Amino acid sequence: MNGLEIDPFIAALPKVELHVHIEGTLTPALRWKLAHRNNIPLPYKTYEELLDSYKVTYNHRREVNGDNGAPTFLEAYFAGCQVLCTEEDFYELAMEYLEKAQSMNVRYTEPFFDTQAHTRRGIPAEAVLNGYLRAQRDGAVKYRVRSNWIFCFLRDESLEDGLEAYRAALPWARTSDGQGKGLFHAVGLASNEYNRPPMLFEEAFLLAKKDGLHVTMHCDVDQKDAVDHVHESIFQVCAGKGAQRIDHGLNALDREDLIPGLKSRGIGLTLCPHAYHRRQATETLFPKIRKLWDEGVKFCINSDDPTYMHNVWIDGNMMKAYHFCGFSKADMATIVKNAVEMSWADEETKGEILAELKGLVEAEK
Ligand SMILES: [Zn+2]
Repeated sequence: MNGLEIDPFIAALPKVELHVHIEGTLTPALRWKLAHRNNIPLPYKTYEELLDSYKVTYNHRREVNGDNGAPTFLEAYFAGCQVLCTEEDFYELAMEYLEKAQSMNVRYTEPFFDTQAHTRRGIPAEAVLNGYLRAQRDGAVKYRVRSNWIFCFLRDESLEDGLEAYRAALPWARTSDGQGKGLFHAVGLASNEYNRPPMLFEEAFLLAKKDGLHVTMHCDVDQKDAVDHVHESIFQVCAGKGAQRIDHGLNALDREDLIPGLKSRGIGLTLCPHAYHRRQATETLFPKIRKLWDEGVKFCINSDDPTYMHNVWIDGNMMKAYHFCGFSKADMATIVKNAVEMSWADEETKGEILAELKGLVEAEK
């Protein structure tokens, strides 16, 4: 399913990652180590058994598609989260991700995180937030990967619970009053979207905007009501102004007002091709991505939850787009440029990445 060797040009591209869930980068090795450090029992006797458990393609939404005997992606993902207990664990998780990012020439990243999946297990939010904050600072120095994080509301939890988590995390935000610690500068959504449309969290988005944060909207692919969720994200959320980005949003192709809506409002999509390729045939999926491109929808390529998705990271996802969509090197450079423009990095960071990109493209001529 993965099998593509990364082309040297794809490897060399300076990259910007805008759709990666930090807990979805937890490697089996770190999970094994933390489980032992924290005395968390794993249902695997050996490391090899744990590794084998990652080889499946998870059930995509039992609610939607029935039970095929495999765990759902979210079950596997939250099972992995169990081993994360202390500030040091969250720090190590983030530092491992940033080190991996550096190895793929990721220059800047906006990882998704949440506190609710951890506080509901009795982990203090400060452990999560301080671990990531320290990694944000150390990773920028040690690995030269800059990051601004995105606080996610767990959408299968209540709005009230999300608001409480948000208020507790706010001192770690980069708010417009300049008082925050600067870990996160945006809010988004995570977890199960079944019967949980974006508008349920409208109050939270308005609050975040008032605090000076950006708003992005996760719209899972082929989820129940996916088209309606995309419609809400473009036309309804944030008092009708729409989200600034949509994460996935591939189902925008399925209703005719959505593509013009994305374009007229300048909303870009953070696509993760391998996440869809696990469930859609090559000849079905990649023409859709190509169609978005041909229609002039702005998008960039990202990794989603790489360790739970056959270890395909941003470079592997870009390679899939390059290979299966028939994109040229210039097209791939444009996709990176899109990511820079869609990002909320500071102007200096954007300028540096674009200059590096330009140098690479000129060297290819
Ligand atoms: Zn995602």
